[in-house]
This record gives sequence, C-alpha cells and structure tokens, in this order.
Amino acid sequence: MSSPRHVPERPWDVVVAGGGHAGIEAALAAARMGCRTLMVTLDPAAIGRMSCNPAIGGLAKGHLVREIDALGGEMGRVADNTGLQFKMLNTSKGRAVWSPRAQIDKRAYARRMVAIVANQPNLMVLKGEVTGIQVQGGRLTGVILHHEAVLATGAAVLTCGTFLNGLIHIGDRKFPAGRMGERRSEGITESLTALGFRAGRLKTGTCPRLERDSIQWDRTAPVLGDARPTPFSYRTPATFDPPNEPSFLTHTRPEVHEVIRAHLDRSPIYGGEITAVGPRYCPSIEDKVVRFAQRDQHAIYLEPEWRDANQIYVNGFSTSLPEDAQQDALRKIPGLEQARFIRPGYAIEYDFIPPRQLQATLECKDVAGLFLAGQLNGTSGYEEAAGQGLLAGVNAAAAVKGRPPLVLGRDQAYLGVMVDDLITKDVDEPYRMFTSRAEYRLLLRPDNADLRLSRHGLAYGLLDPADGKRLAARRRNIARFQQASKTLHVPWPPGAPDESTAENRSAPAPGATLARLLTRPELRLEQLAPLLPADFLEGLPPGDLFTAETDIKYAGYAARQRREARLQARLEHTPLSPHFDYAGLTALRREAREKLSLVRPQTLGQAARISGVNPPDVALLTIHLRRGNVSRETLP
Ligand code: FAD
Repeated sequence: MSSPRHVPERPWDVVVAGGGHAGIEAALAAARMGCRTLMVTLDPAAIGRMSCNPAIGGLAKGHLVREIDALGGEMGRVADNTGLQFKMLNTSKGRAVWSPRAQIDKRAYARRMVAIVANQPNLMVLKGEVTGIQVQGGRLTGVILHHEAVLATGAAVLTCGTFLNGLIHIGDRKFPAGRMGERRSEGITESLTALGFRAGRLKTGTCPRLERDSIQWDRTAPVLGDARPTPFSYRTPATFDPPNEPSFLTHTRPEVHEVIRAHLDRSPIYGGEITAVGPRYCPSIEDKVVRFAQRDQHAIYLEPEWRDANQIYVNGFSTSLPEDAQQDALRKIPGLEQARFIRPGYAIEYDFIPPRQLQATLECKDVAGLFLAGQLNGTSGYEEAAGQGLLAGVNAAAAVKGRPPLVLGRDQAYLGVMVDDLITKDVDEPYRMFTSRAEYRLLLRPDNADLRLSRHGLAYGLLDPADGKRLAARRRNIARFQQASKTLHVPWPPGAPDESTAENRSAPAPGATLARLLTRPELRLEQLAPLLPADFLEGLPPGDLFTAETDIKYAGYAARQRREARLQARLEHTPLSPHFDYAGLTALRREAREKLSLVRPQTLGQAARISGVNPPDVALLTIHLRRGNVSRETLP
C-alpha cells in the first residue's frame, strides 16, 4: 500500500466526519469553542438531512432536544423555526415525563442547518470521504481521506450514521447505499478493526413515501397539534407562533395483515436475508403483524414531509417487503386505495462500533483524540445522535484546548443517562432513549433543562452572555414566586376536595398557603390564578411559572431522588484504573471478572451498573480498593 499523502495544510484542531445530526452539533460546538474545525462530509448539500420521519422530539427524545438546546446546541432552535405542528406528548402523566414533539418541514430544516454551518466562524466544510484514521503511539494524528490524502489533526469525531458498509434491502433486492439515493462509505470500519476495535452490524427501516394527490383524504381523520404550543428552545422568542398543520390518521385492517402474512417469506428479515438486529420499539409493519397477531388494526399517520409537500410519509408502516407486496398491502388501507409510490419503504444494515470501547467523554479508550458519536455508536434517532455529537464536539475541543471535559451524571441529564448506558451496557439492538431509563427522572424534567445544564453551555462559550442574563432572570422569577407562595394565604378553591376530616367537613374550608395548595396533585396554578391578588403573577413569564409550580409540586419526591443521587455519588467519584487486571482478582465471580475486563469501567458507580456485576462484586471491589489492591489511576 502506498504511503498516505499529506494535504499541504496546517493541522486542524478538530476534524468531524459527517454532516448529519451528530456531525452538525459536534462541528458547531468545536468551532464555537475556538477550535479550527473541518467538517468532511460526503455531500455538503445533505447536511442536516432527516433520513426517516419528518419529526423532532417525542417521548424522552423531547427531553434530549431540550438538553441539547440548554447546552447551546442547534437542534431545538431549528426545529422551532421549521416546525409544522407542535404537540406536548404524555400530558396525562406527571410533568417530568411530558415530552415535546414537532412535525418538521424537512427541507426547511436541512436548509437552515446548512446555513448555520456555512456561517459559523472557525468551521469549514469539505466534500469528501473519510476512509480511516492515522494513529501513532495510541494517539490520533490524522484522518485519512479517499485517495489516501491525510488531514493532520489532534482530534476527530466520527459520525457516519448508517453509511458504513450500508446495505439496503427491499424484498430480495439489495444494494449498497448509506441511505436511499446516497452512496455508502467504506474503509472506516476496516481501519478501526485493524487497530483492534470491535465492530458489529445493526439494521433499521423506513416507510414508503406516497404522492399526496393519490390519497383520498376524506377517508382519513385530521390530527392537529396543540393550540398553545411550547417551543423546544429556551432561546425562541415569546412571540413563537408556529403553524398548526394537520397530519392524518387511518388504520390498517385484517385484509392488510393478510397480505403482509402472505408475503412474509419474501421479507429479508423473515426470509433470513438480514441477520442484524433492528429496533424492537420501532417495529416494522411485518413485526407488528407477527408480534401482535391478535390485533386487527394498527394506527397509520400520513405526514407531509414539508410544507405543501407532494411527498407523504406513511408513519407506522416501516417495511422491507418487496415493492409489489408493500403496494398491495397499503392499498387495502382506507384512504390509500389508489396510492401511488414516490419510493418504497426499505431496511438498511450498517456497521456500528460497540460503544463500550468509549470513555464517558465519547473518546475511544484505546486511541486518544478519537471520538465517536451518533448512529455509529449503535443508537437510533436524530435526537440521540445530536446529543452525542454535541458532547463529543465539546470534549474533542476541550482535549485540544486543555480544558476540563464535559461528563454529565445520570442525575444531571438524560444525555448523561444515555452516554452511561452506552459505555456500560450491552448495545445489541439500536438504542433509543426512554424516560424509564432514567432513575432520577423527577430531577430531569424537560422544563428545567436550562437550570440544570446551561451553566456548562455558558462556561464552554456555546451560549451567549445574553443567554446567561436570561437564565439569571428566570432563576430570580422562579425564586420570587416560590418565596411569595409560601406566605400568600389563598382561600380553598371552590369545588376542590378540602383537607378537613369527615367530622368537620361541614365547616368552611380554611384555605392554605399557595405553596401548600400547589402540592395537591389535582390543583394547578391556572385554576388558582383567579383567587390570587391581581398583581401576584405580574411580570412572570408562563414558562417560569410552570417551572416554579412544578418544583413545588415535586419538592418531596425530588428531595428523595437528590438524596439517592448523593449516596450514589460516592461510588461515581471513586475512579478505577482502566489498566487493572480484573482476571487476577480471583475472589470475584468469573462472570464479573469477564464483564469488568471487557468494559474497563471508569468509576465504581459504572462498575455497579454493568450487567453481570452484582452488589456483592461491588462490595468486594470496594474492599480491594480500600486495601489498595485495585488501582485508582484514571484514564489519560
Ligand atoms: P446521519 O444522519 O446518518 O448522518 C451521517 C453523515 O455522515 C452524513 O452526512 C453522511 O454523508 C456522512 N458520512 C458518512 N460516512 C462518511 C464518511 N466516511 N466520510 C464523510 N462523511 C460521511 N431513527 C429513528 O429514531 N427512528 C427510526 O425509525 C429511524 N429509521 C431510520 C430508517 C432509515 C432507513 C435510516 C437511514 C435511518 C433511520 N433512523 C431512524 C435513524 C436516523 O436517521 C439516525 O438515527 C440519525 O440520522 C443519525 O444521525 P447521525 O448524525 O448519526 O447520522
């Protein structure tokens, strides 16, 4: 093999491979932290392209978008600017798990991201393909491009999505691609495995796209968003007044399921052609028909992909059946009897790098300066990718600048939960965020992401000083309301069940402080507002009131979770050496030794979360740590 040719350029501080959701946030963060940053991407016109559904947010994903925004990322702001319909999901449950979601104009979203990237100082975009990395003495020295040119750099973030050795399947047709209409990329997996990395294979799928004019809309039911929508971004002005364009609901029927069953042997998954694992929680229509055989209908949402689009996304009908079978099945759905395809659904298999090979900074354990983020780490979803991209970009830049890394705890952010899960647990199917993954979810509400995280965004220069002022004003407003509500006596609201006992229930309800009333689950500030003095809420923005009220409501539970987090912190702050020889610690059970050797946890807390490591194993590790048998030396 000929030796790589050096591009006659002075070295880059950070090179980002990929212009998807992870790559954008990584490159913007590194450039905003003052690093000379280069984004290398296969197609600069496809920066910010949404491969699958035209939506941002959703259950737990909405939390991630809020956190990305609170740290100074772009996803939330751009979604606010390009959304077609906004809805707060899960409002029948507690406020900690409410999740914002928006239908997005895909074209406008990508256009805006392209413009943001193009206008970012310190950031350049190069059309090209990264095919490998160059390493000397365990440290990244460069990124190899197609034709073996080398870009010298001290840090790189790889964010190649579904493109690495991507293979699309539609029935028995299969062809190499990164996603429909875009070529795949090759070389990175091979370059990493040659260095000793492990790689795996996953799959995902998408739905067919239909021509708008071929749908009988009167046979479907329009579904609108919230009349008073909440933006994703804390920086979106209060004048936020987005469109509320409908999507349309229809359902599959038994006849549809019959067609699917009849063609199952032609599905590459059921026919055994694809062996890679797909997302269980985002099943294809074939999976739904097989796994939920007792159900005779499944919801199908018809979603325009952009404003006035002729292209309609068939949400709920992800499939890799042959095109004729897709068409036969779809045409049995009410409203789709005459449906014409713009393109069929498909499945894609791609390489991923099991993320246990990463530290909590998303830097590789065995190659200093190399960071991985996004779908490449085995996750699924725009939001999971963007969140990792932001953290990897910050940490790559921090490493270059000699600044402390950004590692978020499980009690600080869903982003912290995600990264910890990725580096600790087995990723054997595409990982998506759920609120159930967070043990401290009462602390990690979507409305308080800025209060939890924006100080980091400000410290790293990802947010403006003006954002700092806004945050300080918000803190003041919240404190003012909470303080005043402790002393303001409010008459008991008419109709609300009072706290009197059965014996004295005939006596008039005595009333209580506003703070006391707000702890009652059935009472909301909105209902109590007419009972308050006229000027009590004056000058307090609705978002600040919402957070202040929610803090009061959850105070007891949140205090308990904070106590639990403090107890856990002792373990989280006990470092373990990545070089420790667990195999030699024969007092540990064999499974624990194997798992610890594989994961090489950075802290005792992380060790305790590894599946196969039990509390007695952790107790034993603690004893050996105390005796000095287990080294506390941390990663470089
Ligand atoms: P991507 O958005 O894929 O971006 C990768 C970027 O890297 C692109 O810009 C590409 O040009 C660039 N690139 C790749 N290789 C190289 C290279 N070697 N050199 C330079 N640049 C390179 N998510 C869900 O949440 N639910 C779903 O149901 C779902 N279904 C999907 C179905 C399909 C068919 C596909 C393709 C994706 C689906 N996704 C789904 C996943 C979602 O699209 C991704 O999670 C998200 O886009 C990942 O973002 P990313 O930044 O990691 O990668």
